[in-house]
Formats: sequence, structure tokens, C-alpha cells
Amino acid sequence: MRLPSAVPGLLAAAAVLLAACGVEADEPVFVAASTTSAAAPATTAPSAPPSASPSPTAPPGRPGQTKPGLLPPVVDHGPRTGNLVALTFDADMTDRMLAQLDKGSVTSYANVRIIEMLERDQVPATFFLTGKWVQRYPELTARLAGNPRFELANHTFGHQAFTAGCYDLPRIPSAAMTEDVAKTFKIIERYGGRQTRYFRFPGLCHDRAALRAMAPLGLTVVDGDVVSGDPFATSWKPIVNAVLKKVKPGSVVILHVTEANARFTDEALPHILRGLAERGLQPATLSEVLAG
Ligand SMILES: [Zn+2]
Repeated sequence: MRLPSAVPGLLAAAAVLLAACGVEADEPVFVAASTTSAAAPATTAPSAPPSASPSPTAPPGRPGQTKPGLLPPVVDHGPRTGNLVALTFDADMTDRMLAQLDKGSVTSYANVRIIEMLERDQVPATFFLTGKWVQRYPELTARLAGNPRFELANHTFGHQAFTAGCYDLPRIPSAAMTEDVAKTFKIIERYGGRQTRYFRFPGLCHDRAALRAMAPLGLTVVDGDVVSGDPFATSWKPIVNAVLKKVKPGSVVILHVTEANARFTDEALPHILRGLAERGLQPATLSEVLAG
């Protein structure tokens, strides 16, 4: 996501926290047939209906599996047992970013060095793709889909805000939300590979109305419990520190593969991988991490 460079990382982390807290406060129970309340994901394993239980062989959910009126599950990490953690990379793309690419004021919103590093070291990862990023980088998308260690997930079509006051992102009309995300699943599915029904809101901004709009799609909303702050970073060190300070078994780490909007993520990545190994933590796909 394009975030104002003036916004400090702390504010972003607070906004992320508020987004999560808003959901927890507003939603009494968001998962059917579960005794776990919506506030649980912060401290316990995320609950999910059987139809949305992620596993390596059965991607979570299918369209139409969420009953009308029920909100989709929202998770921010997996079980705290074991030693798996999920590295997730968001691939944002807005009309403004596309215009910058067309003008030549920005060279790339796709950090190939990250992909090369993950491929070379055989590191599993999950990519949250916007439809517009996929359309701009079809070869890279095919490359991601062709890697059996990579999972593909949905980050909306054009990275618009699904709530008011979500950074400086232009807001999507409520009536367009469901189709925006449905369309993006279709765009990504054409590439095959390890498809999922995981979805992440831009800026992690969601409220009850946004969640309700996702209900027909049979998806699982994935926030994350480790915000790397890589779009704000002015060097690789704060990214590494932010990740290694918070990461624990079951963590979902939020990073970006957007190059010009997250310029130090590739430099940070080897240090993050080394730090995870030193802590006995092992990167895995989101399905594997959420399944424990
Ligand atoms: Zn984003």
C-alpha cells in the first residue's frame, strides 16, 4: 500500500491494532459453530468453521460456503504450538501507482530480488496479490504460481480502502466491495498453483460492513500479528528489528513485495531468515501455519 512517508511506523502499528480492536469490539461472534469469541485470535488459535479450515491439501473455503448473515473468520496468527511462521508479502497496486509506472517516475512495484531469494533458499511464502498488480506483472505472477512453495491469496483488485479513514487510500463504494474481491480471485485463479481463499484488506482496514460484504465469498480474512512496517522503513534494520522482536510460533508476518514502496525489504529478508533460524522458527505457507 502507498502510505504517506510522514506517517511514523508507530502510528501505523497503532492503526493496525485499532483496526483489529475495532473488529474485536464490534463483532460479538464472527464464526459459526464456535465457542471462541472474536477477541480470541490475539491470544489463542484462530477459530474457523470446518469449511474454512486451512490445510496444505484443502485450501480454505469455497464460494458460497459462508451462510448468509455470518461474517467470515478473521485470523491474525496460527496456533502458538510448534515452530512454524508465515512470511506474507503484499503486492499492492493502485491507479496512482500504475500512473507512476506509465510516467516512468517509478521503475518497479515488483521486488524481483525478494522472489529470487525465496526461490534460491527454497523458503515457503504466501503472496497477497491485488488484481491490478497481477495484470501489470503477469509473468511474475505465473512465476509465483509455478513455485510449489508459494501460496497465492487476494489483496483486492485496486487496493482501495474498505473503511473510512484508511490511510490515504481512496474509498471503494460499499456496493462494489463483494464484486471487487470476487473478481480478484478469478484473476488470480487463472494462474493455477497453490490457490487459497485467504484475503487481506488494504491497510488491514475492516469493519462490520466490510466483513459482511465478504461473507458470500467463502474466504478467511487474514490480518497478521507481526507488522514489519517495511513501507515506512528508511533502512533494513528497523524492519528486521520489528519482525524479530514480535515473531513467535504461529506468527503471520506482514511484508511487501512492492519495491519502490518498500525499498529495503529485500535487504532485510536475509537477516529475518537468519533470525528466525536462530530462534528455531521455520517459515511455512499460511495454510500450514494456520493449520498448526
Ligand atoms: Zn496492501
